[in-house]
Amino acid sequence: METKSCDRCRGETELTLIEAVGGEADPLRITLKNLPLLACQQGHHQFIRPQFGAELLTHLTQEEEPGLPAGEEKGFFKKKYLCESCGAELEPKPDHRHTFSFDIKLDDIDPVGVDLSMPVYRCSACAKEQLHSQKEIRKLTPAALAHAFEAADIPPPPGAI
Ligand SMILES: [Zn+2]
Ligand SMILES: [Zn+2]
Repeated sequence: METKSCDRCRGETELTLIEAVGGEADPLRITLKNLPLLACQQGHHQFIRPQFGAELLTHLTQEEEPGLPAGEEKGFFKKKYLCESCGAELEPKPDHRHTFSFDIKLDDIDPVGVDLSMPVYRCSACAKEQLHSQKEIRKLTPAALAHAFEAADIPPPPGAI
């Protein structure tokens, strides 16, 4: 990876890994693990490349994450959610929170770990626990991710997001 100077002080930067940093958009909480970023001597943080935040967001909102059980949203005015296994209606009230963990693989870096914590709902027929819908997660993801970047002290790069 080529070296890049700090956007704020022009100092030299080094590749650093943030062990874990999280952001919330109620009720979704996203924790990023082993998030790579560039840090300078002054402690300024920036993405390893300007579009990195957008790449992560695109991945999280446009690709089916494996191992993320989610129902299907039906209805327009009054929404209901159907079980991904048997098609029966999911309970309207969440059962408990569950944390789903998976890795995101982007170009030129080691996989970034993602913990996604959300209430899960039980199917009234087969008892499988799942998220209400992928769509619901995707709506909340941009804000949760923005808060995680804020918590990691990474300002949005000029012109991005
Ligand atoms: Zn700096
Ligand atoms: Zn079911």
